[in-house]
Amino acid sequence: MKDVGKPEKIRCDACPVMCYIADGNSGACDRYANHKGTLVRLDPLTIIQSGQDLVPFMGEGAQADWDGDIIKGGRQFVTAVGAGTTYPDYKPAPFIASQEVDGVDMVTVVTEGIFSYCGVKVKIDTDRHIGHERDVVRVDGEPIGHVMTSEYGSKMLSLGGVEHLTGGSKKEGRVTCDALLRLCNREAVTMTIGEADHSTEVVVEAGKPPIINGVTENLMRVGCGSATIGMFPKQWIGHVDDVVVVDDHITGVLSEHETGKQLDVPPTGIKIKGRRSTPGRYFQVAEPGTGWGGTDIEDPLAILGPFNSKVAWEGLRLFMVSTTGEQFAYYELNADLVPEPRDVPKPLALSAHLIAENCEPSVCSVLFMGGAGGSLRAGVTENPVRLTKSVKDALTHVSCGGANAYVWPGGGITVMVDVLDMPTNSFGYVPTPALVAPIEFTLRVSDYAALGGHVNSMRRVSDINATETRRVPQNPKAGDPMDLGNYRWKAQPE
Ligand code: SF4
Repeated sequence: MKDVGKPEKIRCDACPVMCYIADGNSGACDRYANHKGTLVRLDPLTIIQSGQDLVPFMGEGAQADWDGDIIKGGRQFVTAVGAGTTYPDYKPAPFIASQEVDGVDMVTVVTEGIFSYCGVKVKIDTDRHIGHERDVVRVDGEPIGHVMTSEYGSKMLSLGGVEHLTGGSKKEGRVTCDALLRLCNREAVTMTIGEADHSTEVVVEAGKPPIINGVTENLMRVGCGSATIGMFPKQWIGHVDDVVVVDDHITGVLSEHETGKQLDVPPTGIKIKGRRSTPGRYFQVAEPGTGWGGTDIEDPLAILGPFNSKVAWEGLRLFMVSTTGEQFAYYELNADLVPEPRDVPKPLALSAHLIAENCEPSVCSVLFMGGAGGSLRAGVTENPVRLTKSVKDALTHVSCGGANAYVWPGGGITVMVDVLDMPTNSFGYVPTPALVAPIEFTLRVSDYAALGGHVNSMRRVSDINATETRRVPQNPKAGDPMDLGNYRWKAQPE
């Protein structure tokens, strides 16, 4: 006999997990819930309002005939944040929103993509050694990615990807998905890089300085040691006989460097340990580390050999400084031509402060990167490859949460976007495991029809009545997906 008192569970069909959800409960991803027998998306649909004027509802400027719309005028862009997903993929995307923009009928196809092939690229502005290239990055003991090739003044990590999400153990996939989700939603994630004999703990949070082995990084170097020699010689000449800028990459020596030659700095007989590249430029003066200039040294004299007694002289003045200007020291040679520490003369201390002043603050940048697979594209058009061609032909503009996305060249639609350009809490997950990220495709209605789009599912933006919406202002840094200059037909009229 049927139990009539027991409410029926409903099935969520927004992803392959297909949760059965009882009334008042949410599904495994906490994105959908059963609300009195109706499946509801729990996060509000996020709408970007450009050119908005917020209307005061009381006091000066309040309008007696105010119609209740707190945002007057401007254009609305329906983002995919909170839009939901359709599954299986032949179904049209949850929102296909049309509107006229400067006399052109435009449409935005909006969906929360489920990305198994996705990850984040992390740029950490620091000279400090955080790990060797290819060192494994772990969270809670699980491998979630690796150290990539360094960039100028920054260390790089590649995290996530299908190899860790689905290619390893179940726990590895779950931990990776959770770390990616937190990084993309701008939360701090503590990770361990390298093996036990050379491990480093790094806390990464988008837009914040990294914390490396418990020390918050402050500055990003002004340049390599050689570049620093080239930038600041006039601060030193007349106050000192030689300058060494200590750097894990290229350590610079003023008297030997082309800069010193052109400014008539005489030889000093200095000897630097390490591999000489070109005059005044040395590689590998020490091991990488968290000391001076990203080396492992705390005493800069460790990188000096004995001075050449045929050239050096008693009283020779030597200034040593790191590439961020945070560490510096001054020495004079004694009668045995051995450097002895002395108080740093004021002009030299000021030069170190000038170097520091020219350094930018150190921050972590988190870029989401994912590929819009064939299935996601089917929600846009019945002929998915035409969407790819349309993106490559600059007829379709791709954004993530309204932020302009960089589309990689070559096949597919592989996008990369700075999570700080996107609205907060733009990302979710499903336990397959995969990340859920917003993606929007904007194009002319005529182009949409030509590529076989789901035109019958189009609705005017003004007719989209999600139960709950969150309105955010246009982020000028993120670009404007409705800017007609994004499109080839506007930028290069035929
Ligand atoms: S995991 Fe989330 S999206 Fe997937 S079926 Fe369950 S509730 Fe729906």
